[in-house]
Amino acid sequence: MKRREYFYPAVTFLVFVILFSSIFFLVEKKITEENQERHLYIASSQANLMKNSVDTAIARVYTFSALIRDNSGSTDFFDKEGKIIYNEIILDSGIPLKNVAIAPNGVVEKVYPQIGNEQLIGFDFMDISKAGNEAAIEAYKRGDVVITNPFDLVQGGLGMAGRLPVFLEKNGTETFWGLVTVTMDFDQMIESFHFENLTDQYINYRLWYEGEEGEQVTLAKSVKEPENAVSFDFPIQNLNWHLDVAPRNGWQNHFQIAAVMLIILAVSLMLALLLMDKIRIRHVNEQLEQLAHLDGLTNCYSRHYVNTILLNRNTGCWNDPRARYSLAIVDIDCFKNINDTYGHEIGDRAILAVAQVLRDHSRQMNGDCVIRHGGDEFIILWNDVSRERFLAKLQEIVDSVREISFSEYPGMKLTISVGGVAYEKEDPITYYEMCGKADKKLYQAKENGRDQFVV
Ligand code: GH3
Ligand code: MG
Repeated sequence: MKRREYFYPAVTFLVFVILFSSIFFLVEKKITEENQERHLYIASSQANLMKNSVDTAIARVYTFSALIRDNSGSTDFFDKEGKIIYNEIILDSGIPLKNVAIAPNGVVEKVYPQIGNEQLIGFDFMDISKAGNEAAIEAYKRGDVVITNPFDLVQGGLGMAGRLPVFLEKNGTETFWGLVTVTMDFDQMIESFHFENLTDQYINYRLWYEGEEGEQVTLAKSVKEPENAVSFDFPIQNLNWHLDVAPRNGWQNHFQIAAVMLIILAVSLMLALLLMDKIRIRHVNEQLEQLAHLDGLTNCYSRHYVNTILLNRNTGCWNDPRARYSLAIVDIDCFKNINDTYGHEIGDRAILAVAQVLRDHSRQMNGDCVIRHGGDEFIILWNDVSRERFLAKLQEIVDSVREISFSEYPGMKLTISVGGVAYEKEDPITYYEMCGKADKKLYQAKENGRDQFVV
């Protein structure tokens, strides 16, 4: 019983913990996924802001290209238009520029503003050995604008440039005129992207691109790099940038998880304890029921057992429709004398000794049972025995009781009188009818001088 008392509650506890935790972690997973989607959305907004700014700046470079073509390759317009376009680009894109320059045959001829960019005059973009020039050569080959990743500028600082090749039409064929370029101040450009918007939302970030050796080159990042980040990939012209983002405090709120797990443990424990209580109550009830079924002195069955288990409470018929009982009432002879002569304690021992004899002659199975009917009176039920066997049993009982002796009281004689009713196949009767008949036989046995059975 002890095992059952703890086993089921322990299993219940485990089942509830596993069930509740699984539900919680599924919900938690869903919430994390939604949170990741929200972060990707924020990253995409930030990426669009960057892409739009750079695209806007690059788009204005085409104005230079158009002006050069309109002026058949002459660069005079630049003295007036260079400054205007330079300012327009800053205004439209929001990106601070280092300069705009035009380079016939790839060699810088004019730059705006000149101050701070003096070293650029005469710089040959087509010289592959110089930093940032791969883009210029690439642009020439592709015939379209190419943006560089950040590189060290000859005039100092970190820049990011757009190089656009210009072709002039001569006799129906396009010939390479040179390059127009716009160079953005990289650090100021990053500032113009307002990454603090992410920081304000407690988001850690890292902007990066894949270097030539496959390494990740970081362009900008928060103080602490994002952990388990989600990554938003976006192209800007020929570039392919990535923006990683993750919440500053991680995707999961560990405090919340611990709190929920504690609640789950507490609720599961409570349910398990409730079940344990229920099992205990049922067990106690079973024990009480069992006690009610047994006689306190002899451990034989009680009348309560007969009335609740053997018989149908309402009809008084056998509960087991296959019952074929033979019944005997046993009464100790002159028991009052024993009590009076030897005392009640010895009287009790005598009752116990008789009960033991009766039990010894009952199979205690197949419905056979010994019932203490009250006082010095017992009822024995044998199921499915022949009349001969029944009579033999009664004789054995009478003989065996006569053999009972207490060494301390050699003079004490114990005998019983028995009234029996054998099962009648043709005329089966109820328990109470059998008792009535057996009682009459018992009376006859007493009348006949006791120490015998009458059937
Ligand atoms: P008879 O042969 O006619 O049966 O005579 P008797 O003296 O046995 O008469 P009866 O059966 O009527 O007496 C039963 C006595 O059993 C009465 C009561 O004092 C005694 N008795 C009943 N229950 C107990 C018990 O639990 N312990 C003891 N010691 N005596 C009991
Ligand atoms: Mg008696």
